[in-house]
Amino acid sequence: MTIPYGRQSISQGDIDAVVSVMTTDWLTMGPVVTAFEDAIATLSGTPDSTVVSSGTAALHCAYAALNVSNGDEVITSPLTFVATAATAMALGVKVHFADVAADTGNIDPGSVAALITPRTKVIAGVDYAGHPVDADELASLAHSTGAYFLEDAAHSIASTYKNRPVGSLADITAFSFFPTKNMTTAEGGAVVSPDAALVERARRFRSHGLVRNKEEQRYPDEGPWHQEVHEIGLNYRLPDVLSALGLNQVKRIAEFKARRTSIFERYKEELSDVAGLILPTKRDYVDPMWHLYPVRIPEGRRREVFDFMRNAGVLVQVNYLPAYWHPVFEDLGYKRGMCPVAEAYYEQEISLPMYADLSHDQQSIVIDVLRKALA
Ligand SMILES: *Cc1c(COP(=O)(O)O)cnc(C)c1O
Repeated sequence: MTIPYGRQSISQGDIDAVVSVMTTDWLTMGPVVTAFEDAIATLSGTPDSTVVSSGTAALHCAYAALNVSNGDEVITSPLTFVATAATAMALGVKVHFADVAADTGNIDPGSVAALITPRTKVIAGVDYAGHPVDADELASLAHSTGAYFLEDAAHSIASTYKNRPVGSLADITAFSFFPTKNMTTAEGGAVVSPDAALVERARRFRSHGLVRNKEEQRYPDEGPWHQEVHEIGLNYRLPDVLSALGLNQVKRIAEFKARRTSIFERYKEELSDVAGLILPTKRDYVDPMWHLYPVRIPEGRRREVFDFMRNAGVLVQVNYLPAYWHPVFEDLGYKRGMCPVAEAYYEQEISLPMYADLSHDQQSIVIDVLRKALA
């Protein structure tokens, strides 16, 4: 029996919700998509949302909605999954990596400020492990220079910052519903914004850029069948079948958050006396829904501890290789050493199992194995 670092929680209610859609007229582009979008908007404290086929699609749609294009610059964190930068680069931008804060692993506003140029179009923060970024500072930095603040909230749906829900903090926010994340649709994601017009732009990009509203069309008299494209889009739609799963998962999110919070508290209680081990910290104005439990292992022992835990059946993970260490960035001239705090974080980090269905006994095993690994 192995214990993964993250996994989905699927109830009979989730299964019934999916099955019930299978015999309706709409497997995709139907009413359950709209109902799921309403639920995500409510959870995020925003007027609207658009659901998409992955977190990567959500980021791509979000950058496209902000009109990011060739010649623009995006500033983001290296301590993230490569998609945060890759989706911006797919639109032709130059990406700059700002270093992170040593406590949260989140992008450091001071490092961001040093990278701003007249071409900066987006500052993209990542809520590492579920802990919200310094949203007020990043928003004011972005707005002071005419740029946008985007939040990659793949880890942090249902987290709050100064009592405001993630999704309502940035100009535009992207969620992921991959199975290891805080809630799932198997594959899926969403874009939310306090500005309904930005969500509408993301929705249009999600569906080929098609303009169906006659009043907006250039050739409205073409015929009743007519729809036209003004700006290029792609097909990133989420089907009703998967939206049904998402809609039921939203109903369970308070239960998921309570469970993740208690796992976090127990790790903190039972690991705080381990010499040299650095546990994740929480700033006092946030209430995270923890996606990861990132610990940092004493200097030079990460690989040994990782292998020991994996061999004992505890399938720990490492999050993340600094994005610019990927060969594709190296080949573009990005150099190691650029963001020393993020690099040091990566070199010490291990993500312990953290998911709603992790049992009390399983967590005991994880704690025990980590203690033995470091003994
Ligand atoms: C998971 C993740 C993504 C991509 O989401 P997918 O649904 O896997 O496409 C983007 N950014 C971060 C920080 C992630 O963790």
